[in-house]
Amino acid sequence: MRSSVLVVGGGLAGTSAALFLAWQGVAVTLVEKHPGSSPHPRAVGFTARTGELLRAAGLEGGLPPSRVSKGFGIRRVRVASLVGERFEETFWSPPAEQSQIEYSPAKGVGVAQDRMEPLLRDKAREYGADIRMSTRMLEFSQDDDGVTAVVQGDGEPYEIRADYLVAADGHRSPVREALGITRSGRGYMHTSRSVLFRAPLDEYLKDGIGQFIVDGVGFLTTYGDGRWVLMLEDREYDEPELRAKIFQAIGRDDLDVEIITTGRWTISAAVADRFSAGRVFLAGDAAHTLPPSRGGFGANVGIEDAYNLAWKLAAVLGGESRPSLLDTYDAERRPVALLCHQQIFARNDGHNRDGQPEDAPLIDNNAMHYGVLYRSDAVIGAGPELPPAQRPEQWNGQPGTRAPHVWLEPGKSTLDLFHRGWVLVADHPQWEEAAAPLGIRYERVEPLDAFGLTAKGASLVRPDGYLAWRSTDLPDAPAAVLAEAFRRTSAGTR
Ligand SMILES: Cc1cc2nc3c(=O)[nH]c(=O)nc-3n(C[C@H](O)[C@H](O)[C@H](O)COP(=O)(O)OP(=O)(O)OC[C@H]3O[C@@H](n4cnc5c(N)ncnc54)[C@H](O)[C@@H]3O)c2cc1C
Repeated sequence: MRSSVLVVGGGLAGTSAALFLAWQGVAVTLVEKHPGSSPHPRAVGFTARTGELLRAAGLEGGLPPSRVSKGFGIRRVRVASLVGERFEETFWSPPAEQSQIEYSPAKGVGVAQDRMEPLLRDKAREYGADIRMSTRMLEFSQDDDGVTAVVQGDGEPYEIRADYLVAADGHRSPVREALGITRSGRGYMHTSRSVLFRAPLDEYLKDGIGQFIVDGVGFLTTYGDGRWVLMLEDREYDEPELRAKIFQAIGRDDLDVEIITTGRWTISAAVADRFSAGRVFLAGDAAHTLPPSRGGFGANVGIEDAYNLAWKLAAVLGGESRPSLLDTYDAERRPVALLCHQQIFARNDGHNRDGQPEDAPLIDNNAMHYGVLYRSDAVIGAGPELPPAQRPEQWNGQPGTRAPHVWLEPGKSTLDLFHRGWVLVADHPQWEEAAAPLGIRYERVEPLDAFGLTAKGASLVRPDGYLAWRSTDLPDAPAAVLAEAFRRTSAGTR
C-alpha cells in the first residue's frame, strides 16, 4: 500500500504527528505494535502550549483542564505521609519569576496518557488518518524517492511505501538505532518501580499540591481521576509489600485501595545527535528522552516536534516548498531538546539524586513553554546573539519566536488567526496589497504593540504560529520585500 507519510509508533508523539498531518490534509498511516494504550499511564501534565496546538487542531473542547494547581501540577512538597506532616515545598522554577501575564488562550491539560492517546487517535481518524494498531514495523529502507517499510498486523507481513517516515518509536527507537544515530546527554540515570492504584484520596488534593515526596517511601502523585501512582526504588515487591508501602505513603490503612498494575521505568536523559536522516525524521522520545522528574518536558516537547514537522511535510508534499524546508526541523527542534536537557538538570527534583545540578542560568517555565527561539533558514533575523528562550513580553515579536497571544475580542485570540497557512499581520493597505498575490492571508491587527510594531510594520507568521520575519517600517517596495522574505523562509517554489 501507499501513503505520503508513515508514522511508526502510536504514543503521544506519533499519534500527535498523525493528527497534525491528517488535519493538514496529508495522507498518513500510523503503525503501532500494541493493541491500545498501556494500562499504566506515564504523562499526565500537558502545558498550555500543548493545549494551544491541540486547540488549533480542533481538540481543545474535549480535554479536561489541568486540575492540580495553576499551570500543570508543578507544586510538590516533602511530607511524612499524605495525611501527615508537610515540610518544604520544592519548585522547578522559582515562583517569583512566574508572571501574572496571560500568555495563552489555552489552558494546561491534566489527563492521563491512557486517556489522552485515544482522544488524539480518534481525532486523527476523524481527519482521515489510517491508524493501524497491533501492527509492528519489522524493517525499513529508503531510497531517493521514498521509504519502504515491512509491517505485520494479524496476518502476513506487507509493504508500505511512503514519501517520508516519522519515527516516533520511543526512547529505544529501533529506527534511530538502525540509522546509526548516536545520542548525547547524561545517559542512564536510574530505574524506578511504580504501583498504580485507585483510592479515595481526593480530599488531600484540595490545596492544589499534587506531588508528594514521602520520606522513607517514595514519590506519590495522582492522575486526577481517582488513580494514584507511587514510585519506589527498584526491587521486587510482592502484593502485601506493595499494599504496606501504599498505606505507609498515605499514612492511613483504613481505606479501600485497589492495585491496578505495576511498572518499571528506566529514567535516562539523551538527545539524538541528528533528528533526521534522508527521508526519516525522529520525533518524541526517539529524538530526546527527558527525565520527567523536573520540568515535565517529555511528552510536551514530543508533541511540539510533531507540530513543527507536520506543516513542513505538508508544504513539501503539496509542492509549495522545496525539500530543504525539512532541514529546518533538526535546526529548530534539536536545540530545544538540548535546552530542555540543560534546564532539567538546572532544576530541583526534590530527590537530590541523578548527579550534580547543571551550572546554567535557570530559565523560567513560561519562557520554556512559550518563548523558545528557533534559528533556521525558515526564520530571518534570529541572530546568534539572542538568548535561547525568554518570556513572550521580553521577546516582543522577535522573529523565530511564537507569535504572541492577545485577546482580539472575548474568546478570540491572535493565535486563532494563525495555524492555517501563512499570515501577514499588519495594519496598512500597502501590506495588504503586498500579501494578496503571494497567497498569504492578510490579518489586520490593531494595535500591533505585542508584535513590536507600529502601524507601518508587518510580521510574517508561519503555519505553526511562529514568526518568520518582520519589517518594523514600511519599505519603498513592500511587495518585493515581502516576496523575498516569504520565498526564503518558506523555501518557496514559486
Ligand atoms: C513515570 C513517567 C512520568 C512521566 N510524566 C510526564 C508528564 O507528566 N508530562 C510529560 O510531558 N512527559 C512525561 N513523561 C514522559 C512521557 O511519558 C514521554 O516523553 C512520552 O510518553 C513519549 O512519547 P513517545 O510517543 O515519544 O514515545 P512512546 O510513548 O514510548 O511511544 C513509542 C511507541 O512506539 C511503538 N513502537 C516501537 N517500535 C515499534 C515498531 N517497530 N512498530 C510499531 N510500533 C512500535 C511502541 O509500542 C510505543 O507505543 C513521563 C515519563 C515517565 C517514565
